[in-house]
Amino acid sequence: MAFIYDTHIHTSAGSRCGHVPPEEVVRRFKKRGYTGIFITDHFFNNPSTTVPFKEIPWEDAVEQYCLPYETAKKEGEKVGLQVFFGFENSYQGNDILTYGLDKEWLKAHPEIMQMPIRQYCEFARSEGGLVVHAHPFREAGYIDLIRLMPRSVDAVEVLNAGCSDFQNARAAEYAANYDLAVTGGSDYHAGKSFLCATSSEVPFASVGDFCDAVRRREVTPIVTYDRRDEKILCD
Ligand SMILES: [Zn+2]
Ligand SMILES: [Zn+2]
Repeated sequence: MAFIYDTHIHTSAGSRCGHVPPEEVVRRFKKRGYTGIFITDHFFNNPSTTVPFKEIPWEDAVEQYCLPYETAKKEGEKVGLQVFFGFENSYQGNDILTYGLDKEWLKAHPEIMQMPIRQYCEFARSEGGLVVHAHPFREAGYIDLIRLMPRSVDAVEVLNAGCSDFQNARAAEYAANYDLAVTGGSDYHAGKSFLCATSSEVPFASVGDFCDAVRRREVTPIVTYDRRDEKILCD
C-alpha cells in the first residue's frame, strides 16, 4: 500500500495567491484519500505573502506566518489527515522549499532574511533542514533565469503541477544527472488541482521521517490526477 502526501500546498490564509482556507484544504485532501499534506505557504521574502513582517516584531510575524499551518493541523486531527509544516522562500523567481525546521527555529533566525539564496540553502541544511529546489525549470513572467544550485540542495521537485510536462522532465533529468533526491507536489493554490504528490511505502510519523525518507531515496513522486482537467491559477 502506498501512502500519499502532497508536499507543496498554499492556503488563502498564508499566501496572497492561495484561494482555499486551511480547514477547507484539509477537508479536500482528506476526501481525495491522501495520507497527509505539507502546508508550505510563501515565506516573507516573497511579496505574495500576507504577513507584514517589517511592521511587527519578528517573533510575532513568525507566529502569524505559522497560524494557517496550525489551523490546518487542528482540522487534520479532527478529520484524520496528517498535516506537516514547511515553508517556501523565493529569490527572484527561484523557489526553495524547506522541511524539518519549525516555528521556534524560524523565530531564532531572523538573519535568514538577509541571506542570498545559496547561503540560505547551506545554512538551512547545516541546521538539519531538508532543502528542496521547487520547480527548477518553470518558465514564467516572474522568473528571470533558470538557476541551478546542485551542490546546495538536498532534493529537486521533479513533479510540480504548475509546470508543463517538459519542465518537469527537465527537472527529473537534472536530479538524475547530479544524483539528487526527488519530491513531487501540487503547488496547490486553488480548486481541484490535486495533481502531483510524493508516495511512500510507509507512513511518516513526523516531518523528520519525511526528510529521512527523501534523503534515503525511499519516496516516489507521482501524478495523482489528470492535469488536462485543471488549471493552476498562479505560482
Ligand atoms: Zn509554491
Ligand atoms: Zn503562490
